[in-house]
Amino acid sequence: MIKKYDYLVVGTGIFGATVAERLSSAGKKVLIIDRRPHLAGNIYSYTDEETGVEVHKYGSHIFHTEIDEVWKYITQFAEFNDYVHTVNTRHKGKLYPIPINLDTINLLYETNMTADEAEEFVTKEAEDGKKKYGIVEPRNFEEKGISLVGEKLYKAFLKNYTEKQWNTSAINLSAEILSRIPVRFSHNNRYFMTAKYQGIPKGGYTRMVEKMLESRNIDVKLGIDFKDIKETLPDEITIIYCGQVDELLDYELGVLPWRSLRFESEKTENGLGEAVINEADSDVPYTRTHDYKYYQIHQPEIVKQKISYISREYPTDFSKGGEAYYPVNNEESRKLYDEYVKLCNKKYPNMILGGRLGAYQYWDMDKAIKNAMDLVGELS
Ligand code: UDP
Repeated sequence: MIKKYDYLVVGTGIFGATVAERLSSAGKKVLIIDRRPHLAGNIYSYTDEETGVEVHKYGSHIFHTEIDEVWKYITQFAEFNDYVHTVNTRHKGKLYPIPINLDTINLLYETNMTADEAEEFVTKEAEDGKKKYGIVEPRNFEEKGISLVGEKLYKAFLKNYTEKQWNTSAINLSAEILSRIPVRFSHNNRYFMTAKYQGIPKGGYTRMVEKMLESRNIDVKLGIDFKDIKETLPDEITIIYCGQVDELLDYELGVLPWRSLRFESEKTENGLGEAVINEADSDVPYTRTHDYKYYQIHQPEIVKQKISYISREYPTDFSKGGEAYYPVNNEESRKLYDEYVKLCNKKYPNMILGGRLGAYQYWDMDKAIKNAMDLVGELS
């Protein structure tokens, strides 16, 4: 049965789906499996019957990219609406735009500075912070944050949120994480400021993945674990594995560190009035709340209804067998990952690791698609 396939793709998330689709277009026969009972990995969404709200089961996913090739590719499988993501963050009971912009600065300092004045002011705050803490070349998230915006803005909007998300002091975290949320001295409040394209698929993410896997060359099997079928695989089949490599290899070298999330959801008439509100303070145990209906701007009747479907997002520790969301990237974990890759190559010479889980990378959806497209380009 399994003999008729050229490739086995393990995982139906956006990376696996793109790989399967690209291979099938090149005439290859592909079997794609997922151990979950549903498609689409962590971008899975479903419609809540009562409200018509598209619930993003594993937290908000907003498609955004600067890569023409990726946009051209993904729009073959879904029509996207014109949603533009903006986020407010709550600090001491007040809402502020995040990423930090001119309004965030003026609201926090209770000033009315122009863009130039604010830039000069924040530069001075940053210089003062660097002096106070003896920062020369920022070595971690905390030093980078202070060097960028000064102590007050850093402590209000970046430090506590980040420490909640990663459950460690910001001095143990990479400065690189900050590049995801730049500072601007304008009223621009777009979360993804440089995204050339963004939106939400009108029919939902799961439908989009279904369309990607519609080809006659692809068979999809859900609720199947790789371990259940590995003994039945022919030697010549190539496996694209989008799961966690440490689990695959029975944690032989130890556990790769991840952060996980837990969602508490409810239907309520006290919605947010926008899609996401972050919680910047340490006394609120969750990092953000999602109000999914605001993504459906192409269905005004859904947005206008009184009821909202909201989910509060609690960062949690990851344990073996749990859901992995964010790789805890540091020197030690990268080294361990590299060791696992070597071991994997030995044990499964026909296997390629990929996707957020398999590559142990903090990728956005577009990055995962781009990597998948490049991989298939190299294979064919
Ligand atoms: N971040 C922060 N304050 C916020 C939002 C984000 O300090 O209000 C930091 C935090 O360290 C987080 C990183 O920025 O890990 C990336 O945030 P992003 O929203 O990109 O995370 P994702 O959407 O991938 O969960």
